Order: sequence, then C-alpha cells, then structure tokens
Amino acid sequence: VKENTTQFPPKLVQLLDGFKASKALFVSSKLKIFDLLKEKGAMTSVDVANQVKASTCGTERLLDACAALGLLDKTHQGYSNADLANLYLVSDSESSLHDFILHCNDRLWPLYTHLELAVKEGTSQNHCTFGKKGEDLFQDFYYQNTEMKQRFMSAMHSIAKVTARDVASAFDLSQFRTVCDLGGCTGALAYELTEIYPEMKVTVFDLPAVITNAPSFRPSRQNTAQVSLSSGDFFKDNLPEAELYILSRVLHDWCEEKIHTLLSKLSAVCKPGSALLVAETVLDEKQIRPVRAVLQSLTMTEGKQRSGSEYQQLLEKHGFTSVQIKITGNLIDVILSFKEVSTH
Ligand code: SAM
Repeated sequence: VKENTTQFPPKLVQLLDGFKASKALFVSSKLKIFDLLKEKGAMTSVDVANQVKASTCGTERLLDACAALGLLDKTHQGYSNADLANLYLVSDSESSLHDFILHCNDRLWPLYTHLELAVKEGTSQNHCTFGKKGEDLFQDFYYQNTEMKQRFMSAMHSIAKVTARDVASAFDLSQFRTVCDLGGCTGALAYELTEIYPEMKVTVFDLPAVITNAPSFRPSRQNTAQVSLSSGDFFKDNLPEAELYILSRVLHDWCEEKIHTLLSKLSAVCKPGSALLVAETVLDEKQIRPVRAVLQSLTMTEGKQRSGSEYQQLLEKHGFTSVQIKITGNLIDVILSFKEVSTH
C-alpha cells in the first residue's frame, strides 16, 4: 500500500509530541494540580495559578494541555479533574500513581536525556544523572539519602498497589503457608496475598534501609499480623525459610552473574515441592512487545527484560521446573515454577 505522503504521519506526530505530553503530566503532578482540583472542584486558571504559586499564563497553558490530553475537563466554570485524574493522579487515592509519576520525572527523565551517550557507550548513565559513580543501583543511588529512598519506595508502592491483585491471583497459591517476598520493598504484594489467602504467612525481605521504612506503608484496614519484615542482603545473607519464594521486579535489574548467585542460592534453600514465583513483564518471543518493557530496557542497566522462553530456560537451569507463565494483561506478568524433585 502506497503511503499518503501529503499528510504528516499521525504515528510520528504522536512520537514527536510524546515527550511534551509526558512532561505536562509530570509538572502538573509535581505542582499537585490534580489534588487541588479534587479538593476544590472546578477552578479558573487564575485561581489555580495563585494556589500553586505559578504564573497565570503558564498555568493556563498547562491546564489547557492537560485538558487536551484528557486529564482535565474544561467548561465555562473552569477546569476540573477527569475521572482518570481522580482515580490515578491525585496523591491520596487508593490507586494513586502520583509517586511513580514523580519518580519518572525526577529519575527517569534525566536518565533518558542521556540516551544517546548510553547507546554509544552501552552503559547506563546513572553517574551523569545522579552525579556519582556506583555499582549497585539501590545502595549507591536510590538509597543514598532518606528523601530519595522514601520517594523510590513510594514509587514502587504505587505500581505494586495497582498490580498486586493480578500478581497475587494469577495462580492458586493456597497450598503455600509460608512465603518470602525477596526484595519485597514496602510489602504491598505481601498484604495483598494475605487478603486473598487468610492462612498464609508472608515475610518481606529487603535491605535494612528499606525495612526500617516499610512500616509506614502498612495498610491500616488489614490484619497485618500475617506479614513480617526481615532485613538482609539477598546476595550475601541467609534467606528466611519458606515454601514459596517471590522475586517481583527483581531479576530484570541484575547482570547474569548476580542472577546466577541469587537463583543458585534459592535453589539450594528450596525443598523439593516448594516453589518460586517470578513477577516481571514478559516479552514476546520477538522481544518487541510490550512496548513499555522494550523502552524500559533503554535505561541500559546491567539487567535485561526477558521473553517467556528465556525465563523458562533461566529457571530450569537453576533446578526450577514445571514452569507456567501467566500474561495478566496488567503491567506485570507472573511465572510460577517448582523446585525439581531430585531423582538421586
Ligand atoms: N518487589 C517490589 C515490587 O515489585 O514492587 C520492589 C521491586 S524494586 C524494583 C527491587 C527491590 O529489591 C527493592 O525493594 C530493593 O530494595 C530490593 N533489593 C535490591 N537489592 C537487594 C539486596 N541485595 N537484598 C535485598 N533486597 C534488595
């Protein structure tokens, strides 16, 4: 089919404007415009500008951009939140993505401005973005001060809150009474698991700096006695005993050597019949879908995104068999495997 070259291709228009739209969302979130409109209802641009202490002309353009993007409604009474904004963009809703949006603005945006260099050198540009060299993304960068740590944990928590239900219910896990979520961060998945499985006890295992902060993310409404927190380094320290281990959004961060260390260790502590649940975005076999995972790879960390068959191979190499993969339709997919029963 011959392309109509007298029209600017819509797909390219979208790509050319994509970064402007992202930044409009980020800045509106940073200025807490969605929180303000939720609290006050419809407002004029002048009133919003006064409240957020920004220029009237700049605020008006930003509000119009948000209305154009479907984040705000614009009527003769002024601007108000669209349903999407009330659900996901205000900072205090159950499914708020506010902290993840700030993480995208403060951490990922600067990282992606160095993409050209990252591609040329084949390495992550964390040192350009964070102003120092380091080997461990978490201990050397994200947790270098309390404010950054809090923001990173909040960002992880906001993604986990909107994915945990699908991850926790992808397979029937009722046979497992003791579970350990390695790199479990704020415990969002652990609390979701205990909602679904009232008999389950879940240990959230993470670095000491994270575990110190984790209690502030504990949900108030729930029976939290089923969840315990344990601190340590999963590469170096002994792991808590469990019938089911979870690695949620952990494997994609690390190089092959570190993954080998971690999975060998897990394989050694797992008794036959116990299991490993990996939660990651699973790539298609061509490695080009879903787009968001392919774009995420451009952070150029030492880790990588994998397809279903690559996860299967990796797990089988470390003695985990009967691999089942569930594409959830949410941001994160789930892979369940069982520790091989030794035939010796
Ligand atoms: N599992 C959570 C989720 O799915 O939302 C958090 C994923 S986050 C990308 C990776 C987690 O691994 C962080 O909470 C981080 O602190 C933890 N982590 C990194 N290195 C670790 C280590 N050496 N030992 C234990 N946890 C570690």
